[in-house]
Amino acid sequence: MRQPFVAGNWKMNGSRESAGRLLEDLVRNLSPGNREVAVCPPFVYLADAMRVLKGSEIALGAQNVSEEESGAFTGEVSATMLQDFDCAYVIVGHSERRALYGETDEVVARKFMAAVRTGLRPILCVGETLEQREEGITDKIIGEQLDAILGVAGVHAFKEAVVAYEPVWAIGTGQTASPDQAQAVHAMIRSRVAAADDTIAAGLRIVYGGSVKATNASELFAMEDIDGGLIGGASLDAESFLSICQSA
Ligand code: PGA
Repeated sequence: MRQPFVAGNWKMNGSRESAGRLLEDLVRNLSPGNREVAVCPPFVYLADAMRVLKGSEIALGAQNVSEEESGAFTGEVSATMLQDFDCAYVIVGHSERRALYGETDEVVARKFMAAVRTGLRPILCVGETLEQREEGITDKIIGEQLDAILGVAGVHAFKEAVVAYEPVWAIGTGQTASPDQAQAVHAMIRSRVAAADDTIAAGLRIVYGGSVKATNASELFAMEDIDGGLIGGASLDAESFLSICQSA
């Protein structure tokens, strides 16, 4: 059985003070359950987060990582640096990074590898735009995004990874994919990985992201191949995020 996974992607939001308050609220109020919970604050709050989360059930993750190990890469943060702050996870290939910062499948594959090499678990985001869905090429686009990583990292690297299906048209729009729409893509992702390795595919956690809220989390997470969620906006509110965690 796959243990459900719920992660909060805080993006570039909050202040040091609000981040601290949110972390304290989560640690204090998360009820025990058979699911893994993680939060991904901005880099600059990782040190505070590490202190607050120490000894808690909540894992820490980062939102981005350099593909390089060290050196003259101004503004970048390496995977080993993230480990220094107890990060267990790192998001790679988020659609905002692909669209706004020009991250190609090749760059995402190198970041995925940088994480895996260091023992950080990548949360690999894949997803189609609205135009691509309307053109009927959702499976092709996501297949290509996955193959780019499988080709470079190999299927064994997926043992430690989480895949997040995040339709671009659902992110931050309030327009959630229906459980059936999401399930269809999750099943396709799993079968794509299964073509390389059945066992790894069966154990792979594939989470859904895109306007998940306390009110729609249960019906999404009830689907066979939806193993939790990557939560943006709703992860900034302790009550909403805790309620979503409860649904997993
Ligand atoms: P959202 O973001 O929940 O605000 O739609 C999800 C994400 O981008 O990871």
